[in-house]
Amino acid sequence: MTKAKESDYRVVYTTEEGAVCPECKRPQAKCGCAEARKMAVKGDGNVRVRRETNGRGGKTVTTIMGLALNQVELQAILKELKRVCGAGGAMKDGTLEIQGDHCDLVLRELDRRGIKAKRAGG
Ligand SMILES: [Zn+2]
Repeated sequence: MTKAKESDYRVVYTTEEGAVCPECKRPQAKCGCAEARKMAVKGDGNVRVRRETNGRGGKTVTTIMGLALNQVELQAILKELKRVCGAGGAMKDGTLEIQGDHCDLVLRELDRRGIKAKRAGG
């Protein structure tokens, strides 16, 4: 008989453990989606470093996009770049953003890590 299995299956759909994940339909306590997203690589490895001027207030930022790294690695490298540049920074959808014009420092730091990057734009 498969009685035990059926009830196991049903447990997945109860809300005993809280909300059910919309992606995998598992209770969020057992869901691995957030973890999987964290490990997903967004970039294509075609790394571009460019200086951009932010719309509001015209602040200059250095953006690094295309890094073929997962979020954990991106966070680690962002932390390092912020330290090297002595500036604030953020990560947006796989793109790193460092406040100020730090293209040269960023390129040097990426090169030191064996990451080939190209300067893009102005
Ligand atoms: Zn899930």
